[in-house]
Amino acid sequence: MLDQALMVVGSDGKISAIHRRESPDFDPLVERFAQTRSLITLGPDQYLLPGLVDLHIHAPQWPQLGKALDLPLEQWLQVHTFPLEARFADASFARAVYESLVDGLLANGTTTGVYFASIHLPATQILADVCLEKSQRALIGRVAMDDPAQCPPYYRDASAQSAAADTRAFIAYVQSMAGNEAGTILPVITPRFIPSCSDALLHSLGQLAKETGCHVQTHCSESDWEHEFVLKRCGRTDTTALEEFGLLSRRTILAHGNFISDADAVRIAQSGAAIAHCPLSNVYLSDAVFPLRRLLQQGVHVGLGSDIAGGASPSILDNARHAILVSRLLESGVDAGRPRQDRRLPDARIDVMTAFWLATAGGGVALDLPIGVFREGFQFDALLIDARVPGSNLHFEPHDTPEEILQKIVYHCTRVNIREVWVANRRAHSLAPVAETEFLLTT
Ligand SMILES: [Zn+2]
Repeated sequence: MLDQALMVVGSDGKISAIHRRESPDFDPLVERFAQTRSLITLGPDQYLLPGLVDLHIHAPQWPQLGKALDLPLEQWLQVHTFPLEARFADASFARAVYESLVDGLLANGTTTGVYFASIHLPATQILADVCLEKSQRALIGRVAMDDPAQCPPYYRDASAQSAAADTRAFIAYVQSMAGNEAGTILPVITPRFIPSCSDALLHSLGQLAKETGCHVQTHCSESDWEHEFVLKRCGRTDTTALEEFGLLSRRTILAHGNFISDADAVRIAQSGAAIAHCPLSNVYLSDAVFPLRRLLQQGVHVGLGSDIAGGASPSILDNARHAILVSRLLESGVDAGRPRQDRRLPDARIDVMTAFWLATAGGGVALDLPIGVFREGFQFDALLIDARVPGSNLHFEPHDTPEEILQKIVYHCTRVNIREVWVANRRAHSLAPVAETEFLLTT
């Protein structure tokens, strides 16, 4: 934790230097920046945090957030989710939803979002446009899904060839976007998951990953149904199959991973791929608690994902809290009807610092990007947290240690406390003063 420090940020969006109070340069530099009016001084009970990284978001499911969580995964997709995602054939609908989504996530402190869009190339391009316009760092994929056995006729790619061609077209679009020279928006090769893709499509996306070096994202060993489905169809686990299709690399993000074996974990660690741990979504759709601590000890890169809308919260701090809670449940067990030793998984808990690390630095490591930490040469993606605002649950005491302050932030910071958000030193969100309100009551 930095106390009494001066962080210098360049016009390229990077942290160029961090000066401690003890440094002889400190006072002259503070004076110089104050004179040029480019100095921001934190007030009492204000803190600067690295921006939050959300490794797993389904952008078109934003209208579904907080509802439709009544069915198991395989039915939830067919009944609730595919019909909604199909509506993104309408570009004006897509723009309205995506503007609301990106505004909402920035207000919650998500400076980097890793998105599944829909199968529609134009709507996926709109998501990239919106993230660029609103200065959110984003990794975005056009969803590829072509298998008629699992994808409904109204929402699937016409063929493996067309799915690969549209994926290629989206990569080219992002790489030539005006204003994206710094690569704030990155394209992601996105097979939805093995059950919805033919072998031919998975092969060609693996080839594309090798050819372009782009990030890859997909779902992996998420639920009983999904894990068993892949074992039955492929005769091997998701991890092994993805590796054979050429889809497991240092730039791969695997969502969930609840059912991966020890051998899978070794493969993932050796490849350098990462897991997006989605603790809240797992409660609803995954049948199990992700063994986070075991995976961290096995050297697997892990960050957090909201899995909008499988998870009902848009906040990565919420998901950090949930990661702590579910790890405690895993350690204690949940069925009091069983003897203590039969219901618990020893040494499964994580602490608050680990949860915060996952929400920030862990996400950066997962993506192989210089984000999530205040360090020279890293991107200045940051949140200004203020405890002294109306509606705040945050309350600090003079004797709170730095660790206790951070714990309180993880547990109690809400969007009212997130006053300013920067991405690559561009102000991406600023909380407006509380306005006068008029009430119109209707029945
Ligand atoms: Zn997902």
